[in-house]
Parts: sequence; C-alpha cells; structure tokens
Amino acid sequence: MTARAPPAGDGFDAVVVGGGAAGVLVAIRLLSGDGPPPKVAIAEPAMRLGEGAAYSTRYPFHLLNVPAGRMSAIAGQPDHFLDFLERRHGGPRERIAGSFVARGEYARYLRATLDALPARDALVHVRASATGIERDGDGWRVALSTSQSLRARAVVLAIGNAPRPLPRFLLHPGVRVAEAWDYDAVAAIPADADVCILGTGLSMVDAALVLGRAGRRGRILALSRHGLAPLSHAAGHPPDPAPPDPWLALGVRARLRLLRRLVAARAAKGEPWQWTLERLRPHGQALWRSLDPDQQRRFLRHAVRYWDIHRHRIAPEVAAAIATMRDEGRLELVAGRLRAVTAHPEGGSCIHFRPRRQQREHMRRADWIVNASGVETGIELRPGALLQAMRERGLVLPGRHGLGLACSADGIVLDARARPQPGLYVIGALRLGELWETIAVPELREQAREIAEAIHPGRAGASAG
Ligand SMILES: Cc1cc2nc3c(=O)[nH]c(=O)nc-3n(C[C@H](O)[C@H](O)[C@H](O)COP(=O)(O)OP(=O)(O)OC[C@H]3O[C@@H](n4cnc5c(N)ncnc54)[C@H](O)[C@@H]3O)c2cc1C
Repeated sequence: MTARAPPAGDGFDAVVVGGGAAGVLVAIRLLSGDGPPPKVAIAEPAMRLGEGAAYSTRYPFHLLNVPAGRMSAIAGQPDHFLDFLERRHGGPRERIAGSFVARGEYARYLRATLDALPARDALVHVRASATGIERDGDGWRVALSTSQSLRARAVVLAIGNAPRPLPRFLLHPGVRVAEAWDYDAVAAIPADADVCILGTGLSMVDAALVLGRAGRRGRILALSRHGLAPLSHAAGHPPDPAPPDPWLALGVRARLRLLRRLVAARAAKGEPWQWTLERLRPHGQALWRSLDPDQQRRFLRHAVRYWDIHRHRIAPEVAAAIATMRDEGRLELVAGRLRAVTAHPEGGSCIHFRPRRQQREHMRRADWIVNASGVETGIELRPGALLQAMRERGLVLPGRHGLGLACSADGIVLDARARPQPGLYVIGALRLGELWETIAVPELREQAREIAEAIHPGRAGASAG
C-alpha cells in the first residue's frame, strides 16, 4: 500500500492514531460491509501499515507465536487468515492451521485484507505521528508532527507498545546499544562482537535468532533478573475449552495450586502442560478482573514472570533453535540484576551485574548491548509527546496499578477525573490494567469490532472480503 498525501484535515468520521495491527484491524472493521463508508484517517509515521513492532521484521525465522488457525483478523470469521495462506501457498489446511508462519507474512495479510475492501478509498494513511489530542466542539482534533491537524467525530488510540528505554545513568557514554525491535540494527552487529542482551523474554529470542546466524563467532550473554526465557508451544490443541467458573472465586495462590494439580493429573494421562493453559487462554480477561486489587498486586509481584513464560510461548522450531544455541555455548542465560555498564579497558563495555541470590558483583565484557528489557507499561514513563500532551490536558488517567490508561469496559478513555469521554477510544496494550489479556490478535480483533460498531453502528457486524 502506498502512503498518501496528508488530506485537508477536517471532516473525518474517525482518526485512528497508530497503524500497527490494532489500528489496521479497526480500519478494516470500519470499512467493511454495506452502505456509505465512514471517512477514516490513520496517522502512522511508518511507510507501511499493519507492521508495528511485531510484524515489521523481514526475517523469515521470526515466527508468529500463535498458530495460524487462531490469527484471523476478523472476529466471527475464524478461517480468514487460513484462506489467505491457502491462496498464497497452498498446502493441507490442517497443517497450515497448526503452523507458525513468518510474522512479516501477517503484515502482508493485514494490508491485503484492507486493500481488498470495496470502501478502501475512504481511508487515508497520513505519514505523521500524533503529538496531541484535544476536544473540538462535539468531536476531537489530533495535532500531527507535520504541524497539520485532523478533526474527527471519533479518535481511536492504537499506539501499542513502546520499548522501555535503558536507564542512561547506568551506562557509560561510549556504550554501543541496539534496540531489540530494530531488527536491522541487531543484524548489523559485527559477527565477532560479544553481545549482552538485556532481557530474556520474547524480544531476546528475536535478537538471539538474528545474532545466531551462521558464521557468528561472538558470544551472547542474555541477562534478566529471573533469567527466565519463554517456553515452547506443544503440538496439538486441547479438545475441550475449560469454563472459567471454578477459578474465578480463588485467589492467586489457590489458582496456582489448582493449575499445578491439573497439570500433574493431566501429565499422568500423557497431556502436555501447555494444554491446561490453552484451556484458560480465552478467559484471561475474566481471570484478571475477578481478582481484587490486592490479589492483582500479588500476581504482579510474585507470579507474573512465571506466568509470562508459560502463557507467551514460542513456536517449537524457535524454541529448538534457542536450545541449540544454548547447548553449543553460543547463548548463555543469566539471572541477575544489572548494576552498571562501564567502559572496558580493552574496549567495549564492562557489564556489572549481581547474580540472583548472590551478594558478590560479577563482570563480563561486551562489545554491544541489545536492549530487550521489555515494554514501558506506565503512561507517565512512556516516551513520546502524545501521552504527555494528553496528560497535561487532563485527558488520561493511569490504569489500574499504573498499567496503561484508565478506560471503560468498552474502551472509552477516562479523563483525569475518571469521566468517560465519548468518541475517544483506546485499543490494545494501553488497556493492560483494565483487561490484562489485551495485546494479542484474538483480543485486538474483538476490541476492533466493538469500537468500530460504537463509532459507526451497523457496519462492524458485516463481513470483510
Ligand atoms: C516481537 C513481538 C511478537 C509478537 N507476536 C505476536 C503473535 O505472534 N501473535 C499475536 O497475536 N500477537 C503477537 N504480538 C503481540 C502484538 O503486540 C500484537 O499482535 C500487535 O502487533 C499489537 O499491535 P498494536 O497496533 O496494538 O501495537 P504496535 O505493533 O506497537 O503498533 C503501534 C503503532 O502505533 C504507532 N504509533 C505510536 N505512537 C504514535 C503516535 N503518537 N502517532 C501515530 N502513530 C503512533 C507506531 O509507529 C506503531 O506502528 C507480538 C508482539 C511483539 C512485540
């Protein structure tokens, strides 16, 4: 899809801020179906829509971490992505549904879905960042980095995840840092460089796969407080989804006990532990919302690291590649707390860290650091002008436990006094505190449907191409 010139800024039915997967899903829903389409603008600085951090990679070994059969962009059309893959690549349907395809392919799918819509011309892609939002009569005005602005009846915040910046005070001035989501910057690290990846989650896996390409001689150390890496998906899928009822009345500890008991009982019958989590997967939001604030805090303090590596699993082939790198000594995972990064006398950096449950500091030399330390979940700390400007205008309030921003159950953003602001919606990662389970496509497509239906009733139930 080609970017289009910024339009005259007035008269949109909706401006979607952010053109990653979530923004595109909203646009697809708004433009699907019969009748006159709404006028929609997506403000997104990137050249191509539908990419964002997850799907902008051009590396074929960066795979989706959800099987293709569950990645349909359209709520109510579960086979939509499979149809796309079958048209492009052929192959037995069953096999495609259970496979983990390249993430770049998913961006192509989103764009193809958007471009196939008869109402496609009602959408403009404005190549700019939003720098502010303010009320304008009965609608909203979005200020852009190009000094232009867009007026609309409704605005959808779809700005997704932002990487957590490294605390600069820990780093010496000459340190060489690549951001894990800047895949080409990671690939450009010389083959003989020793690398320290800060973080051991999904972004570490992505970076290690790039760094682990054939011919590399440098060593890779991956450091995080717990040193826990994402676990692998199992083959197959459990036959029966579990109703969440037995879980909802329990506190965090009791839930974990029940989880372990069920996993052990099912393992005795040959069932992989992953299936127990799969059964709970559709109920993530209900599980979070049924915890009182104290129990939610307890989960965040004690269980979240363990939950994350079990819940956000990686494709078996990716897990195998990481295991091989570890077995061959090319990748080492360490649990420890980063203390400082100083200049090394022989060049490069000296990583000072205190291994978990030890008092003594350790040191390792690295030529490069890759920042894979995760996403910034608090709106106060998140880089970028937009949320700061919205805070100053009293348009946003931090979400529960400081996660994302406060919003109603249907995604209407609450102002600083916790009042809903009609016409101002949020989708995705910024709903973390309210929903917890909110960043993956199965949740995003539902949120997109609801928001589109609220903005332009009657179209969102209709089918897309
Ligand atoms: C590495 C990785 C792999 C993942 N794999 C999967 C997977 O396999 N399956 C799955 O379901 N989920 C996966 N996820 C979850 C993923 O977050 C979602 O699927 C989805 O990509 C989120 O899209 P988003 O549009 O909400 O956010 P993002 O992808 O973060 O996109 C946000 C967009 O907003 C733009 N933006 C930000 N600020 C502004 C501004 N001020 N003005 C204008 N535009 C702005 C950005 O440029 C960006 O394009 C993965 C996530 C990551 C990080």
